[in-house]
Amino acid sequence: MPKETEPKEILIAQAAAKAVNERRQAEAAADEADLNSKKQAAATLATLNTVSAAPASDLQNQVLATLLQSLQHDLSKKQAKEAEEEENLRRLMLARADGIRHEKANREAAQNYCDHRKEDGRTRIVGQKLSNNHLSLMCGYCYKEFNEDSVPPSLRPSGDFIGG
Ligand SMILES: [Zn+2]
Repeated sequence: MPKETEPKEILIAQAAAKAVNERRQAEAAADEADLNSKKQAAATLATLNTVSAAPASDLQNQVLATLLQSLQHDLSKKQAKEAEEEENLRRLMLARADGIRHEKANREAAQNYCDHRKEDGRTRIVGQKLSNNHLSLMCGYCYKEFNEDSVPPSLRPSGDFIGG
């Protein structure tokens, strides 16, 4: 029974995207609280201006300018951080996908090289009988998998090496 290779790249990408999403949501909540307190400060300033009916003092103008600057700064910082996170995630995913490809290529090369025999010539393939009566076989050295159709007859293990 040939086992299909798991689409590990996809699983990793999904897990990573989920982690980033969760962190973004937490950050968004914190940002919103921060923004709300700033809005409140701005509203207080506006009220002060209205109530006093006097022209806005230099101090009030200064506070407003600082507030706006701070908001602008927060936004740029957030955007830069998000861009950096995305880039890091992209690199991580590429590196992992590359690692998996390498691993798979190495395993396949080893499996092609392996003759699935011990030094004395006996088969290294062992396995078990499944409940559906098919055989699940594997080389104990290179882990190449076989079933009753794909195992070369000369390498087929004797009954002693097939569990049930
Ligand atoms: Zn082998």
